[in-house]
Amino acid sequence: MRIDLHTHSNASDGTQPPADVVDSAARAGLDVVALTDHDTHAGWAEALAAGERLGVRVLPGVEISCLRGGVSVHLLSYGHDPHDTHLGAMLGASRTSRETRARRMVERLGPVTGLSWEDVLGQVHGDATIGRPHIADALVAAGVVADRDEAFGTLLSGRSPYFVPHTAPDPVEAVRRVVAAGGVPVLAHPAASKRGSCITDADVETMAAAGLAGLEVDHRDHSDAERAHLRDLARRLDLLTTGSSDYHGAGKQNRLGENTTDPDVLQALDRALERAPGRAPLRDASAGRARGA
Ligand code: AMP
Ligand code: ZN
Ligand code: FE
Ligand code: FE
Repeated sequence: MRIDLHTHSNASDGTQPPADVVDSAARAGLDVVALTDHDTHAGWAEALAAGERLGVRVLPGVEISCLRGGVSVHLLSYGHDPHDTHLGAMLGASRTSRETRARRMVERLGPVTGLSWEDVLGQVHGDATIGRPHIADALVAAGVVADRDEAFGTLLSGRSPYFVPHTAPDPVEAVRRVVAAGGVPVLAHPAASKRGSCITDADVETMAAAGLAGLEVDHRDHSDAERAHLRDLARRLDLLTTGSSDYHGAGKQNRLGENTTDPDVLQALDRALERAPGRAPLRDASAGRARGA
């Protein structure tokens, strides 16, 4: 059984519609694929329907952008209630802040590249979560850079004078929100040092105490040494370890199934989903009321 637990569609900054991601997953020989768009559930319905049609299990998820002490932390959540109001509000605030931030970056880039906000909107599918990749696509369309990689390596990098951060929740708070919404939280690419500063082991331990279930260990942005360190840390904190592609369609080199998750780990995630506190009100409304939910 082949399992890939981290992919993006054009509901955020991937290049394919959700159904096409699932279709590509089937063609890549995957049995299970998680759709984990940035800060949105917008692709879930389409991906789940495609999964039924194609005989691929789709695990609905989201990748939540977080910040702790100025360090970017990405938290994956699987299987939470998409109608949970607290988690929904947190994601909504992030999407709003992402748009404000993208507008500010375009204001800075405009004088040197001729880029306009309309150019960027032309690259965003519907009400998809806006990210730097959409600005990159507009720069490619205008002939300023050759591809997303070049844009991220130059004008859009975190060290660029045109870079503006967006506000994002603290990852410990995000773990609590995910668990309360009945989801299972897994830390995405925790040691991807080539992207910038990484979360400390001490902060991972704090997240584990708050309910973190696992670490994404096998990811193309991790070196062998980083993977070994994360496996050690997971053993020490009793966390699951996953592997995934972080597929973005044509927007990144990452290929579906290039890293996969062990079937035993998926089983453990499924058991954790069953146990998640936020599950109870879904299964049994009276239990929810008794708990004051
Ligand atoms: P943002 O969320 O707006 O800060 O943009 C970061 C997103 O861009 C992440 O999802 C990355 O996967 C994606 N990204 C980062 N580096 C690259 C790259 N070199 N090429 C394409 N996408 C990238
Ligand atoms: Zn992305
Ligand atoms: Fe990420
Ligand atoms: Fe991702």
